Amino acid sequence: MRIGHGYDVHRLVEGRPLILGGTVIPFEKGLEGHSDADVLIHAVMDALLGAASMPDIGHLFPDTDPAYQGISSLNLLKQVYFRLANQGWCIENVDVTMIAQRPKLAPYLTTMRESMATALQIGFDQINIKATTEEGMGFTGSGEGMACHAVCLIERSK
Ligand code: MG
Repeated sequence: MRIGHGYDVHRLVEGRPLILGGTVIPFEKGLEGHSDADVLIHAVMDALLGAASMPDIGHLFPDTDPAYQGISSLNLLKQVYFRLANQGWCIENVDVTMIAQRPKLAPYLTTMRESMATALQIGFDQINIKATTEEGMGFTGSGEGMACHAVCLIERSK
């Protein structure tokens, strides 16, 4: 069994949709990035790839490649799942801590978990997502950006 950790940050800007965990969330700003800038899925992908000792998403899906411009990160998550499955890895669980001052994410967590569990071909109870603020401090507290931590366990399939 192996552990992985992923961390990502994106800046909040006007004129972009806010997409977290593959779910569009009504908000006055969205995350800036080459893909759909889904900071939550980016952290999860890096946790999974890290556990498997594979190159990170910056290597696999470079932001200089037009193929990934505006791409759904849920789509990339499926690609990461297949990379692990092809090497004989099974996902035991994924645990996510999303850091954002606003908006309240609790109403969307179930939908995010369902979408990501489907992409990763695991059960709903194998992926957990929670959200916290940083009490108004730092870049997440000021609303300059959002951050996300993810950890996972993977094991060799029998
Ligand atoms: Mg990212």
